[in-house]
Amino acid sequence: MNRREWWKTFGSVAVVPHLAHGAGNTLETSIVRLKLRHTWTTTMSSSEYRDTLHVRFTSGGITGYGEGAPIVRYKEDAASAQRAVESVRDLLTTADPREFAKLNAGIFRRIEGEYAAKAALDIALMDWAGKKFGVPLHRYYGLDKNDTPVTTFTIGMDKPDVVRAKVREAEAFPVLKVKVGLDTDEEMIAAVRSVTRKPLRVDANEGWKNKEVAVRKIEWLQSQGVEFVEQPMPAQMLDEVAWVKQRVRMPLIADEACLHPRDIPKLVGAFDGINIKLMKCGGMQEAFRMIQIARALGLKVMLGCMIESSVGVAAAAQLSPLADYADLDGNLLISNDPYTGLRVERGKILLPDAPGLGVAPKHA
Ligand code: MG
Repeated sequence: MNRREWWKTFGSVAVVPHLAHGAGNTLETSIVRLKLRHTWTTTMSSSEYRDTLHVRFTSGGITGYGEGAPIVRYKEDAASAQRAVESVRDLLTTADPREFAKLNAGIFRRIEGEYAAKAALDIALMDWAGKKFGVPLHRYYGLDKNDTPVTTFTIGMDKPDVVRAKVREAEAFPVLKVKVGLDTDEEMIAAVRSVTRKPLRVDANEGWKNKEVAVRKIEWLQSQGVEFVEQPMPAQMLDEVAWVKQRVRMPLIADEACLHPRDIPKLVGAFDGINIKLMKCGGMQEAFRMIQIARALGLKVMLGCMIESSVGVAAAAQLSPLADYADLDGNLLISNDPYTGLRVERGKILLPDAPGLGVAPKHA
């Protein structure tokens, strides 16, 4: 085949009409108020709703959905997340999203902090890429959807009678996560235990400020059928947590002490595992990297979430076959999820077979 013949055969491919990626991309952002089924109380705050940032990215006729749930502790809110996303609009509207990793690196270079904004963009790009390549994201990562873990359902702090009602409502979930860390810990656990014998996991959210108190609390929790405890002491108290770890059998999981990939190496010796959240690290690509680092260092992997709709939770769920533990109940704690597609049955995460995240807006 000479050059002219080759050009006649293959050159014609270039003139087949197709939708270009790059010029003409659109990016829409909106803040959505997610209503909580119950007032949500932790050591940090108490609230009736959460505002999250929703992103729709369209290129070549394909739309990817993303969500960022800003974390108050890191001085982020939905408005600051929206401003951060808008600050890179030029990047998104001109780039080729098939190069999502390159694009993500550019976004990380341009935006300081604002990890919920980064997560919203990363999730939208990954959803777009999955749809473009025609694969669900767990398949893109080479994972088996049968390997998803059971997610815990979280019981927030409340008065004993409300706690008992919440535990009864969570009947379908085989493992519960209980929030502690205030001076009502014993009351909380006693209220849960008066209703169920299920295994429990406990999150102290940095609540215990003294290492002797932490050891005493953990020993008591051990006698109450608790499997592990998340962030027993303040994030910066790594030496104290290492001291505690030498004195208790229960695994200790870092949450507030572990935000980004660079945080992981220094946790070895203090914690047995890490709770990775897309909203702390800035999305699926960064979370995947954290999972690999944790594994290389012999740490257990937990995947967690914030109060989020099915978009944010689905993004974490797509990676969940890689996790030992999941706490992916954010979408189950709200009453007005704008998206559908992700299901949980008796606690087991059921990943959709549709390309990308596998979720769609309810009104569509
Ligand atoms: Mg936690």
